[in-house]
Amino acid sequence: MINTIKKTHHSSTAGFTIIKKDKQTRARLGILTTPHGIIKTPSYVFVGTYGKFLHLKPSDIPKTKSQLVIANTFHLWDTVLQSNKSMRQLAEKNKKLDTFLTQKLGLNIPTMTDSGGFQVLSLAFGDKNKVGKFMTGDSKPDASYKRSKIRITQKGVHFNFKGEKSFLGPKLSMKLQSKIGADIIFAFDQITSPLDDYEYNRKAVELTDKWAKICLKTRDPKQMLFGIVQGGLFKDLRIKSAKSIGFMPFDGFGIGGSYTKKQISKMLKWVVPYLPEEKPRHLLGVGKVADVFEAIDNGIDTFDCVIPTREARHGRLYTKTGHMDIRRGAFSNDKKVIEKGCGCLTCSSKISRSKIRALIKNEDRELNAKGQRWCLMHNMWFFNNLLNEIRASLARGSYQSYKTKFLKKFNS
Ligand SMILES: [Zn+2]
Repeated sequence: MINTIKKTHHSSTAGFTIIKKDKQTRARLGILTTPHGIIKTPSYVFVGTYGKFLHLKPSDIPKTKSQLVIANTFHLWDTVLQSNKSMRQLAEKNKKLDTFLTQKLGLNIPTMTDSGGFQVLSLAFGDKNKVGKFMTGDSKPDASYKRSKIRITQKGVHFNFKGEKSFLGPKLSMKLQSKIGADIIFAFDQITSPLDDYEYNRKAVELTDKWAKICLKTRDPKQMLFGIVQGGLFKDLRIKSAKSIGFMPFDGFGIGGSYTKKQISKMLKWVVPYLPEEKPRHLLGVGKVADVFEAIDNGIDTFDCVIPTREARHGRLYTKTGHMDIRRGAFSNDKKVIEKGCGCLTCSSKISRSKIRALIKNEDRELNAKGQRWCLMHNMWFFNNLLNEIRASLARGSYQSYKTKFLKKFNS
């Protein structure tokens, strides 16, 4: 049953359709249409920081069933400006790869870019203060942290990078993201950290609103632009930001900020009711297994996270009964595949645990890369398969029982 069909006015080939809604939660099954193909939602989004995946060939990506890739504007900044090739030239070279980003990926696949704001903010923190997307229990940031390396004005953020003075603001972010050419781009927002107080967050929400309007005015109309809701861990600020950003004519919405795992659900319950139901919602930088379900329960359609790829590179593999560290000695003579019945390239090619262990522990760069590739192929497939099963359960109307069963086995 089709509940809503909404197409954006920006492009005839872009839009979002909700196919079915879960009766017990805010979870929904949908289709996000982009000029580079469709994305069945909910969907995992894989992070290809520089517009590529280390140790993977372009043809490997479709084999993992990946639907959507996000690249970082900050990391593509220099190369996209140095690229003299126009979109037309790129298109002539390879008919399908018509953007800087698909050209980088070597693949015709739907793409996203972030605004660059998160990387700029990260520069504000010293090496000792590991305040990332999450504050983990063991990282106790120094209370005396200072944003000495960045200066925020009404126009954007001044910062020092590699010894040079630099600047990034909403207009430049839109320009860079247009040149990179992703299907879905994000507004430039002022990100805060869990250390920031109410007043700092209040000002950040105001500035994010102001920058959102600039992004809407200066964006490339061929791209879908998602506005970002901020507000930290303050309920009234989150609601204020969701109301204001949600009212603006964005094509979708991103929910940003730093929070602990427990705070994700609470924060989404504040924000999501104020966002337009018919538009897609993306949760930035979240994607552990338990978080995937929390996000979907709360009406999130897409989410990106480095976990599947980063962990694969360290030999941390996912199975339906939890994690496995393939580097452990216990696997040195284990001839079994990573997970019986897994449909990934690694398992279906019958590559054994001991073989993967030997490769990933090898100091020879080529052999090590081979091992990492087997791990990447498995982990990415694992997450895509999980999302595929979630979508199937939503279609059947049995999402709740699927979730309970899956988590029970995964955490056992
Ligand atoms: Zn596998």
